[in-house]
Amino acid sequence: MATMYAFFKGDFVPLSEAKIGILTHAFNYGTAVFEGIRGYWNEDEQQLYAFKLTEHYQRLRNSCHILNINLRYSVKELCEITTELLRRSEVRSNIYIRPIAYKSGEVLGVRLHNIDDDVTIACLPFGKYVEAEAAHCKVSSWRRMDDSIAPVRAKITGIYVNSALAKTEAVLDGYDEAILLNGDGHVSEGSGENIFLVRNGVLITPARSENILEGITRDVVIQLAREVLGMSVEERAVDRSELYVADECFLTGTAAEVTVVGKIDHRQIGTGKIGPYTTRLRQAFEDVAYGRNKKYISFCTPVWPK
Ligand code: PMP
Repeated sequence: MATMYAFFKGDFVPLSEAKIGILTHAFNYGTAVFEGIRGYWNEDEQQLYAFKLTEHYQRLRNSCHILNINLRYSVKELCEITTELLRRSEVRSNIYIRPIAYKSGEVLGVRLHNIDDDVTIACLPFGKYVEAEAAHCKVSSWRRMDDSIAPVRAKITGIYVNSALAKTEAVLDGYDEAILLNGDGHVSEGSGENIFLVRNGVLITPARSENILEGITRDVVIQLAREVLGMSVEERAVDRSELYVADECFLTGTAAEVTVVGKIDHRQIGTGKIGPYTTRLRQAFEDVAYGRNKKYISFCTPVWPK
């Protein structure tokens, strides 16, 4: 296998050499923001497509803005650095990309101001995130972090303690994934995914004001539901009991892609297997992600020269 590289302190270095010191502010206080991006290998075209690369770096930029991190590269530069990194690592298969902008200063003190910042990007192979064909989800005893406590539309490393608590509780209790309610008791999202329901042919997902992370896959799925399947989509508050009576339910995320939910809190959802709308949406998503649907080819950044 080729040496995997990382972008680290302004340079491309072998991943094994990209190390930070133990006093790094972000390591001590969770003061970093990150992204997860997938690259899809299109075998027919012998091309690697980075999916929604610009949108991921725009979200990283927004996260930095919220967390007072001075990101010294433009979105365009970060996209170029990423494709260069993938070429240097000779990636010709599906890949996961992990950029992190972080408070790199090695100083003590819980604050956001007057700390040096840096950005690093790594890439690594990464398979399915949720193994189950149809996941059994648990509505978590942990509530989703509220935006009045920490800014939930920023993808801040420290906030992921919330997700980790919920995920581990669910898995240790025998489930595959957690669904978190927000402080109001409405459905917010999965531990690392947005959530969708289908009821009577309508696609329903918690609104942006429900303390969700504003998922990029969520946006893609909403667009494809409307444009490819002709569905109507409702972004609104969703009650817990609405989950139980949905015809179909699925989770979306860069890591989870479109993950079918078969059961929630021991109640079967629909047939308990993938439903007709989820089948079509997942297919539409894959066609777009792999760059096969040329109508949406602008979602895909080619890594290798044509
Ligand atoms: N919610 C949370 C908490 C997440 O970590 C993720 C993954 N980034 C998502 C939703 C889905 O976001 P995206 O589709 O942009 O990956």
